[in-house]
Amino acid sequence: MKKSIAILAGDGIGPEVMAQAVKALRGIEQRFGHQFILREAWVGGAAWERYGGHFPLETQSICEGVDAILFGSVGGPISEQTYEKWKDCERNSILRIRQHFGFQVNMRPIRSYPSLKHPLGWMHVDLLCIRELLGDVYFGDHRLDVIDGIRVASDAMVYDEKSITTAAYAAFDAARGRRKKVTSVDKANVLACSRLWREIATEVSMHYPDVHLEHMLVDNCAMQLIRNPSSFDVLLMPNMFGDILTDEASVLAGSLGMLPSASLNSEGLGLYEPSSGSAPDIAGKGIANPIGQILSVAMMLEYSFGMHEEALIVREAVEKCLEVGYRTPDIASLDDRKRAVTTEELGNQMYKIVMNED
Ligand code: NAD
Repeated sequence: MKKSIAILAGDGIGPEVMAQAVKALRGIEQRFGHQFILREAWVGGAAWERYGGHFPLETQSICEGVDAILFGSVGGPISEQTYEKWKDCERNSILRIRQHFGFQVNMRPIRSYPSLKHPLGWMHVDLLCIRELLGDVYFGDHRLDVIDGIRVASDAMVYDEKSITTAAYAAFDAARGRRKKVTSVDKANVLACSRLWREIATEVSMHYPDVHLEHMLVDNCAMQLIRNPSSFDVLLMPNMFGDILTDEASVLAGSLGMLPSASLNSEGLGLYEPSSGSAPDIAGKGIANPIGQILSVAMMLEYSFGMHEEALIVREAVEKCLEVGYRTPDIASLDDRKRAVTTEELGNQMYKIVMNED
């Protein structure tokens, strides 16, 4: 098969982990005789330096002409957010890309690995987070005013029934292929948006009599995710709650660097990215965990290209890598008997396994 892919590595650890994901992709290409045409483009602070904008037209037109987008991460250090290069970087790049292509539904699978020690003790976790991506406070009006000499800030939380319905259908469809349970997360005891969210989740559930729906308040969900994660199958979440809870849930997988994600639009175009940010605190040290980016490749192979066997091989390679003891420092620290390897060493080992050379 011949497929074209936009490669948007971005900032910080983005290029480091992307290099390993591309290695795995090249391994699959050679092993299966596919042809992947990779079109590299600039985004985030890296694009700002070159083009003076975070999502330049050059990048946009490359993204418009490909079969899938593989994204790294964008953004600078938290202490430098007011610098021109980093100001509104995320909003001007990844949020704009999501909006431009209509990536409304984000899927983040979270699973535990038996070979990884865990700070909370090992638990079997296999859940899928479905996060709505184009509504909520991120896209409402953001205001900073001075009223009667007092600074007042407001961010409008807005949801329409169409956005919620799209996310809800994605969650129920996914649950049908899994353990047939959807937990819809809201704050319906306080927020109007959440009351609408709950109403629509209930309406959509009527079309899925074989799937059990439960509603859970977000504060309780934050606690249950740590206390009893195996009770969840599919979590359906509005944008902001999803942003926060998926980072929390990453602890269950061992590290934020382990989580892949897929964002899909109604025409079937997909953007694939790790769940973490650009991790400026470890950028340039060669120690970032590339597994989230590599597993994003597996999601792309499966969702965008229908390459199920190829996706399985990438996932199995991750498991095998962990089983034989390859760990970047973020996960090696969970198990002091394991020697930490670099991002590149882990990527090279992954390539060997994908190529069946191990
Ligand atoms: P972050 O996700 O970059 O990092 C949080 C913590 O997790 C850090 O300690 C980091 O070292 C660690 N971490 C993250 N990925 C890792 C990996 N692959 N391997 C090992 N450790 C990893 O969040 P932050 O520090 O709050 O934000 C940094 C920048 O990233 C900010 O500019 C923020 O706006 C941006 N950001 C971008 C995206 C995106 O590109 N989609 C998402 C979130 C944050």
